[in-house]
Amino acid sequence: ANLSIGVDIGGTKILAALVDEAGNVSGQVHRDTPNHDVAGIERAIAEVIHELSGGNEGLPVGIGAAGWMDRKGRNVLFSPHLSWRNEPVRDRLMKLVGHEVTLVNDADAAGWAEHRFGAGQGESDMVCLTLGTGIGGAVILGGQVHRGKSGIAGEFGHQVMVPGGHRCACGNRGCWEQYASGNALGREGAELVRSKSPVAFRLREAVGDNPEAVTGAIVTKLAIEGDPACADLISDMGEWLGLGISNLVSVLDPGTIVIGGGLGAASKELVAKAEETYRRTLSGRGYRPFAKISQAQLGPASGLIGAADLARFNQQQ
Ligand code: BGC
Ligand code: ZN
Repeated sequence: ANLSIGVDIGGTKILAALVDEAGNVSGQVHRDTPNHDVAGIERAIAEVIHELSGGNEGLPVGIGAAGWMDRKGRNVLFSPHLSWRNEPVRDRLMKLVGHEVTLVNDADAAGWAEHRFGAGQGESDMVCLTLGTGIGGAVILGGQVHRGKSGIAGEFGHQVMVPGGHRCACGNRGCWEQYASGNALGREGAELVRSKSPVAFRLREAVGDNPEAVTGAIVTKLAIEGDPACADLISDMGEWLGLGISNLVSVLDPGTIVIGGGLGAASKELVAKAEETYRRTLSGRGYRPFAKISQAQLGPASGLIGAADLARFNQQQ
């Protein structure tokens, strides 16, 4: 009862489903993201919505996408990993699908879902980090998503952590997400393969010695299976993650940091390493409480659940 439709547009996958008011998901569908093709993405979104709504245009639709939305959720201003550039995406989609559409950042959606139904339940002040292609960030303060003046608060992934460091899709160098994301892990793994390092023999074997074939998911899987070279990469990434978390806690003083996204969910070791580093680097440690670090609970559906919930909430306004 009281269903809404949630859609999550990631750098590689589109996931959608019906969601009820308790956050239960049904009828999940998915597509590959037609990247570098704005019209293609919007057509794919319309398709999954038609598939789920069965012609009922009364169902509100929430879309979480890996982009920087303006405060009113009308325009996607920019997206490092998708091809929208200052475009009136909400109005276009509403025309295309005939439903009321709520457009939010993917990480804000995931963070909201964890706050309502997952690891952040009962926590009024929390931060959620989604580790996937990049780093997504959601700030929840006083039980509400904090969007900032223009709508794009919480873009933690693009804090410059290493001046002059690795180039980022946002245009800068040395962004945090270049050191603590699936892409970062893939890049580091590819470097090991390229160097023909004997310590990376399992990884080299897994990708047939082709560095281009290395992904964050492969490195994570091998690390979980006990491969020491991949475990080292996870551990390095955990350190970067922990350092960034210390900075976030210094700025925002949340009660909980929820770590989600494909990578965050896959690796306990990553989260443990991040926590260890965070506890070693938080300013004023010993004289202040540590924010709790939790793994996300809702899995890959968190983004669509949060988007659907925000859409229902908007409709009730
Ligand atoms: C983008 C965010 C997005 C995140 C996760 C970042 O690169 O700037 O808007 O939430 O990736 O998809
Ligand atoms: Zn960046």
